[in-house]
Amino acid sequence: MAVSTFKRGLHVPTRKTATEGKPVELVPTPKQVVIPINQHFGAPNQSLVQVGDTVKRGQKIADAISPGPMTVPVHASITGIVKKIEPRTQSNNSEGLCIVIEAEGPDENPDGEFMPPLDAFTCTREEALKRIRDAGMTGMGGAGFPSHVKLSPPPNKPIDFIIADGAECEPYLTTDEAVITEKPHRLIQGLAIIMKITGVKKAIIGMEDNKAKLVPLLEQEIRLGNYDGDITVGLCKTLYPQGGEKMLITALTGREVPSGGLPMDARCIVQNVGTLVAIAEAFTLGKPLIDRDLTVSGGACKLPKNIRAPIGTLLTDLPPAFMDIDYSRLRKILFGGPMMGFAVPTVAIPIQKNTSGIILMTAEETYATVETPCIHCARCIRNCPCRLSPAIMNDSLEAGDLDYAVKAGLMDCIECGSCTFVCPARIKLVQRFRVGKGRLRARQQAAQAAAQAAAAKAGASAKT
Ligand code: SF4
Ligand code: SF4
Repeated sequence: MAVSTFKRGLHVPTRKTATEGKPVELVPTPKQVVIPINQHFGAPNQSLVQVGDTVKRGQKIADAISPGPMTVPVHASITGIVKKIEPRTQSNNSEGLCIVIEAEGPDENPDGEFMPPLDAFTCTREEALKRIRDAGMTGMGGAGFPSHVKLSPPPNKPIDFIIADGAECEPYLTTDEAVITEKPHRLIQGLAIIMKITGVKKAIIGMEDNKAKLVPLLEQEIRLGNYDGDITVGLCKTLYPQGGEKMLITALTGREVPSGGLPMDARCIVQNVGTLVAIAEAFTLGKPLIDRDLTVSGGACKLPKNIRAPIGTLLTDLPPAFMDIDYSRLRKILFGGPMMGFAVPTVAIPIQKNTSGIILMTAEETYATVETPCIHCARCIRNCPCRLSPAIMNDSLEAGDLDYAVKAGLMDCIECGSCTFVCPARIKLVQRFRVGKGRLRARQQAAQAAAQAAAAKAGASAKT
């Protein structure tokens, strides 16, 4: 089988051996879960429950304040009592309102009281999209973009390919591989469902070639599934950041997402393999997105493994026989992988819909973080897979010139962290770009609010 790739990219140490090939272990029901009410990219939710309420696993507990497309509900992941609704630190290091549910004991019905199953192949497109939204589906491999929105491109954006992202290029993470190994039928089913919804006839499952051994398994499931359309497997070079949407599209289709554009501008929709499995289960089992698979690894994790945990689980609530952490060696905690993940101050942060891994690193696994001045070596430029100029973007942000940073490509940055990884001056480039994007979003929101206020004032004066 031919192996494709994108231009540039890095060979980073994969560090996957501790969990590679290990089955996914179901966590013992935690004594509590801490569920952020906003886990998606879009309009905010409000709590639908109050302190003291009893909730069932699978029950909707938060939904949009006002209706709109960019909204996704959140569900209880265990049966129990709502003990608190309060701000807590979330996996992106920001404070957000969380619903704390204390377990009533092991769930009598661990499958929960879900929605009735729905046949994705006979229901209408609208019913199918509603089911995906009702199940709280967001991308499980990234920023939490609502899945029902991704699957509803505007009519002027025709789609040729659905791409299942199973590249898993981040060091340490092995969850996607475990999902493909254990639930290939669900993955193919999820792919067939979104092909039905979007009317797209071609799908490619993209994996790095370090997972080539899984190709026969997937090809067998494709044959057994016998779904309409053409589903194939595409192998890509093991290269960082092969799993980035833009990189995977280029590697598998030869197309480029234009600057400032989205995958649909290259006539593609990309979904993580875990999301596809969850979508299949939302139809066949009626199950909302209340559990997720993730890798827990790193030198300070004494029992590295792939786990399936209810959303909102804290590692600190798991028994040491299941999850043993060597706090004496723990130096850095990452939610996500070491390239794109967020460093957080404590292990007691809830697992969210988009938590692909928790990496507990020792001093030997981290590198010195003392920044020195830029030596203009251009390594960051040579290694940026999006062909941006990280050094210039950084200089502009440091000078407070947000507009110039945007001109230099800030919004095209996929936050892959390659520039930070190669920078000999240890400049925290990607971290600055995240802050810069946040500042830009805040500026845009402020401008929008001001325009709305001005319009409202103008309307009021016109009436008088
Ligand atoms: S500028 Fe952005 S896209 Fe380019 S290497 Fe740095 S983090 Fe990756
Ligand atoms: S890699 Fe670091 S030191 Fe080299 S040009 Fe980029 S920012 Fe400067």
